[in-house]
Amino acid sequence: MTDGLDSTGQRRYPTMAALPPKVDLGFLPTPVVAVPRLSAAVGGPELLMKRDDLTGLAFGGNKTRKLEYMIRKALDQGCDSVITAGAAQSNHCRQTAAAASRCGLDCHLVLGGGPPKRPEGNLLLDRILGARIHWGGARRKGEDIPDIVDRLRAEGRSPFVIPYGGSNELGACGFVEGVMELESQIDTTGISHIVFASSSGGTQAGLMVGRACVGGSFKLLGIQIDKDPGPGGEIPRDTIVDLACRTAEAIGCGTRWSADDVLLDDSFSESGYGVVGSLERDAIALTARTEGILLDPVYTGRAMGGLIELIRSGAINRDDRILFWHTGGTPALFPFGDALLGP
Ligand SMILES: *Cc1c(COP(=O)(O)O)cnc(C)c1O
Repeated sequence: MTDGLDSTGQRRYPTMAALPPKVDLGFLPTPVVAVPRLSAAVGGPELLMKRDDLTGLAFGGNKTRKLEYMIRKALDQGCDSVITAGAAQSNHCRQTAAAASRCGLDCHLVLGGGPPKRPEGNLLLDRILGARIHWGGARRKGEDIPDIVDRLRAEGRSPFVIPYGGSNELGACGFVEGVMELESQIDTTGISHIVFASSSGGTQAGLMVGRACVGGSFKLLGIQIDKDPGPGGEIPRDTIVDLACRTAEAIGCGTRWSADDVLLDDSFSESGYGVVGSLERDAIALTARTEGILLDPVYTGRAMGGLIELIRSGAINRDDRILFWHTGGTPALFPFGDALLGP
């Protein structure tokens, strides 16, 4: 990691004012809560939780922060619609559909797979929110977006493309802001790790840039959710570094990173994206039964399962103080009912 110095030799720490303009879509700041009964149940360190499941936009989640910046750009450019992509149970797509409705834009979603008999969970919400669904089969990461954009333009429309997962240097600003927000809520000097589910990388990249901006000392540990490469075959760690550097550059933050600076634990993604096993099931049940807090089956259930494993194996120890960033996803609990109740 290198820290850029300005002409007077000072480190450059951008503030909230350096961030691009946005629209307000979420109820921010989201709460930070202690989860002492969960901490005790895992015999481990003190645990806090940042409740981005409560951002409030049509059941909330981490994509709301990214969308505040991207939707603003779509509006500023005079676009009349947005298009993005994800899995059939994508939380990103559901929040994009809600944001579009809120701002008077049409929403096109390119979803993996094909139409189910009955839409459930996030897909049901996409439909209620009025999104136009395009089924992409095996292509769930936006491979079909350029063709659909061409078609929409030919019809005289003006679509704004939001990348897979909302992960570009504009979306990542949402998590730069997220760290500044956290810093205004609690003293982070006692936090050893912030742990979260990492997939398309925008959350992790934004958190890295945010940490540089506030001069934070905590480690950022992403639990890798998806073992497949990105839409263009990218390796997650490279995507995150590249995005963090581009985001830092865009907002005038002098810090730069290399792949070694990215803490991304890939030991829990082997079963594949969206596959619920005992790791996720047990973590969801334990968090629900000790704290009354619902995690989701695809992301936060896996990330919490990973964190619990790391505590049990001693990789994270009793003296650590952990903040788990709850990134949302709870509407996906419903279609995963059978897997969650177990055999
Ligand atoms: C999208 C998502 C993530 C991962 O965020 P990325 O920025 O794509 O890495 C984590 N949790 C939930 C619930 C999500 O929907």
